[in-house]
Order: sequence, then C-alpha cells, then structure tokens
Amino acid sequence: MVKEKYNPYTTAQAQFDHVADLIELEDSAREVLRQPSREFHFTIPVKMDDGTTKVFKGYRVQHNDARGPAKGGIRFHPEETEDTIRALSMWMTWKCAVVDVPLGGGKGGIVCDPRDLSLGEQERLCRGYVRQLAKNLGPNVDVPAPDVMSSGQHLLWMLDEYEVIKGARYPGAMTGKPVGMGGSLGRTEATGYGVIYTLREALKTLDIDISSTTASFQGFGNVAEYAARLYSSMGGKVVAISSYDPNDKKAYTFRQLDGIDIEKLVTYKDQFGTIDKEKATAMGCELLEGDAWIEQDVDILLPCALENQITAKTLAKLSDEVKVICEGANGPTTPDADELIKTKDIYLVPDFLCNAGGVTCSYFEQIQSNTNEFWEKEEVFEKLDKKMTSAFHAVHNLAQEKNLYMRDAAYIIAINRVAEAVKLRGWI
Ligand code: NAD
Repeated sequence: MVKEKYNPYTTAQAQFDHVADLIELEDSAREVLRQPSREFHFTIPVKMDDGTTKVFKGYRVQHNDARGPAKGGIRFHPEETEDTIRALSMWMTWKCAVVDVPLGGGKGGIVCDPRDLSLGEQERLCRGYVRQLAKNLGPNVDVPAPDVMSSGQHLLWMLDEYEVIKGARYPGAMTGKPVGMGGSLGRTEATGYGVIYTLREALKTLDIDISSTTASFQGFGNVAEYAARLYSSMGGKVVAISSYDPNDKKAYTFRQLDGIDIEKLVTYKDQFGTIDKEKATAMGCELLEGDAWIEQDVDILLPCALENQITAKTLAKLSDEVKVICEGANGPTTPDADELIKTKDIYLVPDFLCNAGGVTCSYFEQIQSNTNEFWEKEEVFEKLDKKMTSAFHAVHNLAQEKNLYMRDAAYIIAINRVAEAVKLRGWI
C-alpha cells in the first residue's frame, strides 16, 4: 500500500471549509479565500563557485492582501513544495487577521539546501530571487521575512538587491533584519514569548496557577527555547523536551521529572536547536525516544517543532493529566485529531493565534523601519503582550459565548475580518 504523503494545503483548506460551513460564508467569498490570490513560480540561475551555473526553483505565494500588504517568510528547503507554501501563506492571512494587524498573508520558498552552498552562492541566490520578484515586493505590496533555514543575513542581501533595483532605501520592505541594520529588538524572543502570553491567559481562564504546572515541549529551536525560558521564569516546571539529532538521524526526548534547568540546557544546544546528548544526560536528563514528549504526565503540551505531530494515532498516547495544548508550531494537529480533542477536556490554543507573536513583532519592525524609529526591548514586549492578550481574549470569549472549539473561534474571527475587507473593497 502506498502511504499517502501529508499535504498541509489539504489541511489548511479542510480547516477553512469547515469554518466556512459553520458561518455559512457565501460562495464567492469561499472561492476567493480558499486559494491564493497570486502565485509566482520562477527559476533562479546562480553562478556557482566552480564556474558552473545552477538553476534553482523559487516561489512566492500571496494568499490575500485585502487587509494590507502580504506578509510572510521565505523558506529554504531541498524538499520545498508549492502546496506547503500555499498552506503557509493561507495561515499567514488568518494569523495577521486574528491579531488584527493590517497585513495580509504571503509565503515564499527556494528549493535548495543552504548548508551545501558557500556564502557567496547563498548571496547570489538571494539576489537572484529578488531580481525575479522585485516588481511584486515592497513595503506596501509584500514584505518577506526569514523562515526555515533562511536568516537575517539572507534578508539583508535581499533588501540590498531590492534597494539597488528601486534606487532608494526601503527598510520596511523586509523584516527580520539584524538588529543594528533595521531589525527590531525582541524579534528573537517574540514568537516563544507570544506562546507563553497566550498560555498564561489560558491558565487564568482555567483558574490554574502557572507556578503549579508542568510542561513537555517538542522542539528546542527558536520558538521552544524562548517559550521554555519565559515559562520557567514564571515558575512553571519543564519536565521533557524533544529535539532532532541530525547525526543520529532521529529525535530524542530529554526528561527530568524534578524539572529541567532551561538556562543550562540552552547552553547545550546548537543554532539548529539540537541538544547535546552527552551534556544533557550529564546534567541529569533521561534519554527517551523522540516521540515520548507527547506521552508525559504533564499539564501542558507545547508542540513547537513540526506539522502533523498530533494525529488521531499519537493522541491515543496522551496522558489524562494534559489540560492545555499550546501550538507553537504551524499545523502540528491534524483535522481528525481535532475531532478527538473536542471530545476531551483539553484547552487548545490554536497555532495561528498561539505563534502570532513573531509576525506581530515583524509588524512592529515595519513600523519602526518606515518611520526611522527604534523602540526599547521592554516597549516591544509590552506592546506584544498587549496584542497577544487581547487577541487571545477575543477568541476565548467567542468560544465561550457560542460554545465553540478554540480553533474554530479563531478561524471565525480571522475569516470574518478578511471576508469583510474583501467585500468592503468591492472584490466580491
Ligand atoms: P527551529 O528550526 O529553530 O527549531 C526546530 C526544532 O524542532 C529544533 O529543536 C529541532 O531539533 C526540532 N525538531 C525537528 N524535528 C523534530 C522531531 N522529529 N522531533 C522532535 N524535535 C524535532 O524552528 P523554529 O523557528 O523554532 O520553528 C518551529 C515551528 O514554529 C515551525 O513549525 C515554524 O514554522 C513555527 N513558527 C516559527 C516562528 C518563528 O518566529 N521562528 C513563527 C511562527 C511559527
């Protein structure tokens, strides 16, 4: 039997269709919103260091820009697919709408493995990407950011190429720039902190004291690291964290039942979020199988690594202790698992609300770049907390009022906002 490959676009459209049915969205709005508005598929020829020319595939998808310029990262991945980018661009639209920032949804990708390219080749690839797209990018059009395997340096090369083509400075054309080159303070922490701001509010509504809770994380990359640090600083106890080990080509779960010293573990991870097995076990962690993170007797589960992790199958392993799931990753839960979570006493903070701290801070970066201003880190965190907290309560209140699943409530708010913008503009 051929195993069907997981397709995130199918999930994104299934989630949309489900909510479009719930709110009886009219057909024209459905047709506009269940697919991207625009897609760019192109080739990028790059002169390699050995004198040959290699041709890479590039994509940019603008799902919807009715509420503002499209916004979303550019992923570098050897197995990048058009459908992954379509799904992620759609989730960006809902994410920007649910936190109510005046931006739309976009996503881009280059089929490549930057680890196999020299710095010079990476720079030429970034500049080539922008040369193909410059007409369709810009602070008022579509604003890219770093994503999987792309960095602030890559975005800065892209920005430089864009400004050379346009003949002027447009610092608000890209976000995720290095601090000192127009980047915002607090962007590194923003997604993980946002996850914990929503968790803190969820626990308040459940009347649970955060300092009496335990948590298990999947992943220890950018999102999980800062989420775990803030959660620990609020008194929560992290008992398990899983991460992928590229040398062993498998993931491991690191468990310490009396609580992992997060600040110490951070010093044992590399820039890709891989935890050093020897050092972690020496500090007292047990080494378990990669998927053991989901089976732990904890109050809170935080999938912060990959899509397609909480499925009908893996859900069967969940402890009855679990009270809250905070989706730091994009698309960690499948629609069939959602149906089962609804029947359990588990509070879910859905991905495009939970991990919206990153794009919210990118929006702050754009404001600072467009106005030549710089905000202090504390000011950024204060504004971020306010945005995330008010978005959380809007979703929570709707879910309570109409007895809805949190993901459905978040979708209803986001889809209604975007559908309204599309209508007001006279597109449908
Ligand atoms: P990252 O590359 O920094 O870290 C990924 C982590 O996942 C690493 O620790 C890696 O070891 C771990 N991992 C990979 N495969 C695993 C497996 N099979 N089992 C256990 N751990 C595994 O990535 P990130 O930036 O932290 O992003 C994580 C997720 O959050 C992704 O879904 C991403 O799309 C989403 N997200 C990130 C941001 C952001 O600002 N970084 C914003 C919104 C959403």
